[in-house]
Amino acid sequence: MVNPFPYTLDNKRYHTQNYELRKIFGEKVCKISLDGGFTCPNLDGTKGVGGCTYCSGRGSGDFTQSALLPIEEQWRIQQEKMYQKWPGSGCIAYFQAHTNTYAPLSRLKELYETALAQPNCVGLDIATRADCLSQEVCDYLAQLNRRCWLLVELGLQSTFDDTGERINRCHSYADFLEGYARLKQRGIRVCIHLINGLPGENHRRMVENVRRISHLGMYAVKLHLLYFLKGTQMAEEYRQGRVQMMSREEYVQVVCDQLELLPPETVIHRLTGDGKKEDLIGPLWSLKKFCVLNEIDKELVRRDSWQGKNYSAGEREKLGGF
Ligand code: SF4
Repeated sequence: MVNPFPYTLDNKRYHTQNYELRKIFGEKVCKISLDGGFTCPNLDGTKGVGGCTYCSGRGSGDFTQSALLPIEEQWRIQQEKMYQKWPGSGCIAYFQAHTNTYAPLSRLKELYETALAQPNCVGLDIATRADCLSQEVCDYLAQLNRRCWLLVELGLQSTFDDTGERINRCHSYADFLEGYARLKQRGIRVCIHLINGLPGENHRRMVENVRRISHLGMYAVKLHLLYFLKGTQMAEEYRQGRVQMMSREEYVQVVCDQLELLPPETVIHRLTGDGKKEDLIGPLWSLKKFCVLNEIDKELVRRDSWQGKNYSAGEREKLGGF
């Protein structure tokens, strides 16, 4: 069957990151995960304590080098690894662990500028919370955006405030929209993260999360699977039977329904979750990432469907978007 979807280099039916980065940079580009030694307002008591109930305390930094190492050293180690596979490729500095705009502006400048000065660095990717984007920080990000390829990743996880409360997210959907608008007004690319399988979220709600954001004009999306890590509050809730794990079949159905609602131009940065094997309680099927992605591909073919099949651009114009 001929693939009806144009934004792919490897026969996917969704807009792949690989396609996008090759289009922009003309070559394979890798991401170098860095830990700038940040914390999070949801861990240090400013917004909350204990963090989001699924957070391992490392705030998505499970695969980064130690924050004790200088940025230059983290870069060198990671780049060496990447170059075993893709020698000489361009690299994007990815500030991944915790909330990477949660520090005085002078510290942010020091970290981001150091990263940008590393060999073959072609851009910056900064993961943060929408409630940690002061006007001052956004103005600086806008300057960076004029100098290099910049992406800001915002964890939203759910558009439903009762879910946010249940997972101790400590910001509302309205807070998210405010921070998001600050970036969009400055022309900064934003990647929105959602998590599928959160407590209290059934299939309808998960799909509704995507329908709600589909008209915001974001650059990219990451769709995660909720996984349960040892030592987290979420793992304890699972032990008590207060939350279920998604099956792979359910997950594939939800993701395909979500892809159908997203605009075709939105870049898909992730369609699974992958916790560290030694810390993972489950779902264990998530460890076979390629199998999950294959099942998604197969289901889209079976449906004769693709990203954006059920997206209506007219709806965006009606709502005004951002
Ligand atoms: S916002 Fe991120 S780092 Fe902070 S508690 Fe939640 S998951 Fe952890």
